[in-house]
Amino acid sequence: MKQKADVVIIGGGVNGVAIAYRLATAGLDVAVIEKNYLSSGATGKCGAGIRQQWSTRENTELAIQSVHLFEGLSKELGMDIEFRQGGYLIINHSKKELDQSEENVAMQRSLGLDVKILDVSEITEIVPVLDVKGIKAVGATFCATDGHANPFLTTFAFAKAAKKFGASIYTHTKVTGIHMKNHQITSVETTKGTIQTPWVVVAAGEYSKGIAAMVNIDIPNKPYRKEILATERLQPLFEAMVISFTDGIYFSQQKEGQIVGGIPIPDEKPGFDTMPTFSFLQHMSQTLTRYIPLLTQVNMLRHWTGFYDVTPDARPILGEDKRVKGFVHCHGFSGHGFMLSPMVSKLLAEYISKGTRSSVLDQLALDRFDNVDLTHEQSVVG
Ligand SMILES: Cc1cc2nc3c(=O)[nH]c(=O)nc-3n(C[C@H](O)[C@H](O)[C@H](O)COP(=O)(O)OP(=O)(O)OC[C@H]3O[C@@H](n4cnc5c(N)ncnc54)[C@H](O)[C@@H]3O)c2cc1C
Repeated sequence: MKQKADVVIIGGGVNGVAIAYRLATAGLDVAVIEKNYLSSGATGKCGAGIRQQWSTRENTELAIQSVHLFEGLSKELGMDIEFRQGGYLIINHSKKELDQSEENVAMQRSLGLDVKILDVSEITEIVPVLDVKGIKAVGATFCATDGHANPFLTTFAFAKAAKKFGASIYTHTKVTGIHMKNHQITSVETTKGTIQTPWVVVAAGEYSKGIAAMVNIDIPNKPYRKEILATERLQPLFEAMVISFTDGIYFSQQKEGQIVGGIPIPDEKPGFDTMPTFSFLQHMSQTLTRYIPLLTQVNMLRHWTGFYDVTPDARPILGEDKRVKGFVHCHGFSGHGFMLSPMVSKLLAEYISKGTRSSVLDQLALDRFDNVDLTHEQSVVG
């Protein structure tokens, strides 16, 4: 293992390797430390949906810019990441949701996003198999440039390109300590040796809280188990990702034909339990077949769990810590860290390599939680 690096990144999920790629292309000497294998965290468990329809400006901006980057990523990284744009259909079930949608759409359009507000009759033009009466839909929003990519291929593509530009990636290597002197990062200790470095990026998903504690930083993140299933392969039925904030459900049909989706089980408590539950299977099957009754006869093939790393306002924590110089936060994605990774990695790499400050990083800094008036992201599912 190398003994010195310009930057050490903790975590080999999509964010860790994307930052490594951006820093390596900027000419920095980077080491990624991953305790298991690449994409073994939330990245390899996720639904991999890519949505620009958010209620907060920062998430919308990051997602719009990420979609622009996703559009060119296969070519840029030299590997097909299976990015496709089938759109996101967000179902509204009440007047209150319609009003919130109108507010969100006005903000999204002000940022240049092409989003449509649909009445009930237009919903089935997008997803013909939906039972709009059964789910009590009163309207929807649709953005055709939202989509999906393969989370494994995206991670592997970033990692391969990062290595090509000189990054070192150490898998099956765990970070066990971080050292600092006079509030400045000096080194990172791992199970395979110590690396001297002035910068450490924490992209360790739900384990970021424990990593931050190594330098006495308290972050407010909580891990929530999230379950997700895949059915057997079916003929092509629809292209859009369907989501509902009322029911908490999201699902899409993959390129190979499986329906993949999830829903929270009621009253889920935070914790590190990874056991899949029968309650989820029951709740998801009942809700999914209410949305698409013809799925009643379809077999569910796989069911697995992962974690959302959730912050009090459901928005990520990004940027250099105000008290520990060289300690960079990149966590707390609260269920949407895959889709934001292209832009988040760009902003953090520009900050580390050039000192470029962006207003989004300021707004999503850890110290926003000192404020009593938090802006909460409303558009969350799963
Ligand atoms: C069921 C489910 C569905 C989801 N659906 C979506 C979706 O549709 N769209 C979307 O954008 N997001 C979705 N998400 C969220 C998304 O998966 C995450 O926000 C994103 O993958 C986070 O990536 P990351 O690289 O920051 O962290 P992770 O992928 O969690 O990677 C962190 C890595 O750090 C490593 N690590 C931890 N501690 C240490 C240590 N001490 N030393 C070394 N390595 C360490 C872990 O092993 C892990 O590989 C979903 C999540 C789940 C669970």
